[in-house]
Amino acid sequence: MTDATLTGSCLCGSVSYRVRKPFLRFAHCHCGRCRKATGTGHASNIYVDPSNFEWVSGREFTKRYDLPTAQSFSTTFCTQCGTPLPHHTRSGREMVIPAGSLDDPPGSLPQVRIFWDSRAPWEGSADGVPTASELPNGWR
Ligand SMILES: [Zn+2]
Ligand SMILES: [Zn+2]
Repeated sequence: MTDATLTGSCLCGSVSYRVRKPFLRFAHCHCGRCRKATGTGHASNIYVDPSNFEWVSGREFTKRYDLPTAQSFSTTFCTQCGTPLPHHTRSGREMVIPAGSLDDPPGSLPQVRIFWDSRAPWEGSADGVPTASELPNGWR
């Protein structure tokens, strides 16, 4: 395994995966959907090319949910412990990796806070990470 390969897993350990760099994007998302899906102030997601991702174990314990009222929102979680887990974007072009499910330090920092205008009133300050009111230009 090289430095460019990271492992990840869920809280209960049923599901594990491997992901290879490079990261396409790394962002905190403050939208209301991510808040619900994670139960926290924001989701911290890393995007990679799907060819750089593979399940190692427990894929049968993953469940995907595509929010019917949304154009692109999806989440995947462990059916045993509820940990948010990697999933294809609905376009299939990218894989979304919840940064908190990584076992290893990602080796880079989030580049932007997106949907900053939708943040929870109890969210902390932006800590120097650039913010975008919704999606930055060029993002789907
Ligand atoms: Zn689990
Ligand atoms: Zn979001």
